[in-house]
Order: sequence, then structure tokens, then C-alpha cells
Amino acid sequence: MHDTSGAAGRLIACPVCDVLHRETPVPVGQKARCRRCGTVLYAPRESAMTQIVMLAVTAAILMVAAIFFPFLELDAGGLNSRSSVFDAVLAFASGPLLPLSLAVAALIVVLPLVRLAAVTYALAPMVFGFAPAAHAEPAMRLAERTRPWAMAEIFIVGVAVALVKVAGLAHVTLGPAFWAFLALVLITVLNDNLMCRLTIWKTLEDRRNS
Ligand SMILES: [Zn+2]
Repeated sequence: MHDTSGAAGRLIACPVCDVLHRETPVPVGQKARCRRCGTVLYAPRESAMTQIVMLAVTAAILMVAAIFFPFLELDAGGLNSRSSVFDAVLAFASGPLLPLSLAVAALIVVLPLVRLAAVTYALAPMVFGFAPAAHAEPAMRLAERTRPWAMAEIFIVGVAVALVKVAGLAHVTLGPAFWAFLALVLITVLNDNLMCRLTIWKTLEDRRNS
């Protein structure tokens, strides 16, 4: 295979406007921007890896809380009902809506958890100064590819819309799982912004070769 990572630097394309740039070393704490549109191409930071792994672990814990704690409590005409996301998924598990129930479980529970696990697996050893784990690259690639399919954020928007409708019919109380979900969405957004993909791949490569 032809090695392009010589002194001249590899070519990297701006993710927004596709202009090609030669990669040059950037000191920690500074940013390399696209010369046409100003998009940040890479921004090496001191403790980015640690932050990403910490956030991934936090997100996994919140995820479990968000699934099993009561999500909503409804009061209507003396009737009270509370349910968790887990209950909601199970509620359709024994009928014609089983495929829907499986799809919901996969997209809002299984896939996000798999992504968090993959990121932690790929980066955690490097945080502690070890060489990357055996299949760190495929794990990282899996996390990248499944990103558009992890839909916890969409779920929370859907819930918010449904709440506005239901609020007129019943007295709705938000359970701890709702807040866990909200925190989870914020952390996911923060983590995706923190993650400088190019730096991660570069670090993986450097540690692998050293
Ligand atoms: Zn650009």
C-alpha cells in the first residue's frame, strides 16, 4: 500500500466544502480551519480522550436510568398510571406491533448502548496510556457508521410533542427517567462536538505504530 503520511502530510478534505488541504502538525489547543469556509478541520486537545470516555460512561449510566425508571405519570379521572420506556416497549411485544416494538428498542436503546460501548472500548485503553485494544479501529468505525441511527434525541422530541397533546386530557407528571433522557441527549450532543474525529484516528494510528 502506498504510504502518504510522509513529511508532506496527508491530504484531508473539508467535511463541509470538500476543499483539499495538506495536513500539517497543529499544536495542542489550536485549531486548523478550512481556508475556504472556516470549518474546524482538526483541533488537538490535551484531555479530549479522557473527556470523551468519561462522557460515554456517564451516558451509559443515564441510559439505564432513562429506560427503567418511571418516565411519565398520568392522572385522569382518579386513575393513575406510571410507565417506563421499558414498559412501553414491552406493551407492544405480544401483538401485531411486535416489529415496531423491536425497532423502537433497537433504535433508542440497543444502538446507542452499542455505540457507547464501542467508543469506550476503542478509546479507554489509550486514556490509561496503553496501546489501543485489539479491534479498536473496527469498533470506532462501527460507532461512526451507526451515528445517524441512534435516535435518543428524536425520541425525546417525539415525547415532547405527545406531551403537549396529552396534557390537555390528563394530569401529566414527568418521572426521573425523563430528566435522565434529557441529560443524555445533552451529553450526546456535547460528546459529538467534543469528538475531533481526525485527532482520534490519528492518535489510534500513532499509538498502534509506537
Ligand atoms: Zn471548507
